[in-house]
Amino acid sequence: MKRNVKTQKLQNKIKASILKHVQTINNRKTVTSQASSSDNKQFTKYVPVFLGLLLLICIAGCSNPFGSENNAEAEAETAGKFRITATTGMIADAARQVGGEHVYVTGLMGPGVDPHMYKASQGDIRKLDEADLVLYNGLHLEGSMTNIMEKMSRTRDVTAVTASIPTGELRQSEENSSEYDPHIWFDVSLWMQAVEQIRDSMIASDPGHAEDYRINASAYLAELKQLDKEVRQQIASIPKQSRVLITGHDAFGYYGDAYDIEVRGLQGISTASEYGSRDVSELRDMLVERRIQAVFVESSVPARSMEAIIAGAAQQGHTVRIGGELYSDALGEQGSAAGDYIGMIRHNTETIVKALR
Ligand code: ZN
Repeated sequence: MKRNVKTQKLQNKIKASILKHVQTINNRKTVTSQASSSDNKQFTKYVPVFLGLLLLICIAGCSNPFGSENNAEAEAETAGKFRITATTGMIADAARQVGGEHVYVTGLMGPGVDPHMYKASQGDIRKLDEADLVLYNGLHLEGSMTNIMEKMSRTRDVTAVTASIPTGELRQSEENSSEYDPHIWFDVSLWMQAVEQIRDSMIASDPGHAEDYRINASAYLAELKQLDKEVRQQIASIPKQSRVLITGHDAFGYYGDAYDIEVRGLQGISTASEYGSRDVSELRDMLVERRIQAVFVESSVPARSMEAIIAGAAQQGHTVRIGGELYSDALGEQGSAAGDYIGMIRHNTETIVKALR
């Protein structure tokens, strides 16, 4: 990896240097054509420099003496495949399910990563740049990356997977009525619409594999339909008065609406919003009054906010425990039970049911 970064830096340096020289040459050319030909000698002086640099970039870029093994590996993996770069793990998973053997999917945000606060690195920009199709959530989930996506969409295939969901099916933000809650993956039936959007974008960008994308998508959508049913049944098994889900930030609004469980978050729908001592005391009072047994922490949000509420309730003689860790805005480690979307929804539901039933 390090070697690749080094090579990339070298290439960029050489490219910048060539650009500078080409600019100089161009400037001189304009002057030459306008006035005398006395500068022609100066111009031709740059030609060998230019050619030399061109040769250098070829050595660095084409044969890549510093990172040939890594590059060969990466090339073998991506050879002939349709390359997709996705922001969240949930989107990357859906793209893999729909794409199967035809695609090479790169996910930018790994386990425990908070998309609201995420800043794109230089490496991310390269991964976005190399992709045949870029997929992101949209509805401002990706915070500061949203601008990059919108700019990129002018020149290449970039899709917000929430783009085709009718606004009537979205939850309006409590803080700002012109914004919508981006956490649509928590209502499995809404996520199915996102999967359909992913399928359609893949077909539009890579029509040669349209048939396979359709077949794969319909198998995955059938699994999701089953999952949706399963979650509804599970949550219904919690007694109505205990059916309250308290988390660090408001990621579970769609989950609450879809599966009939009251949801309260300490922070708003973005972790970028601040919470105050009033939010803490309000939530604490609710726990005490309603004798709620458990609150939940999230894998992508620090747990200390929830600990403050538990301590507050304890001071008033009510014991609350951490019901478990939920995956809200990022999947679990790859290969773990919550490492893919279906596993994540199952893990969350089982954790909630176990703690509240
Ligand atoms: Zn969130």
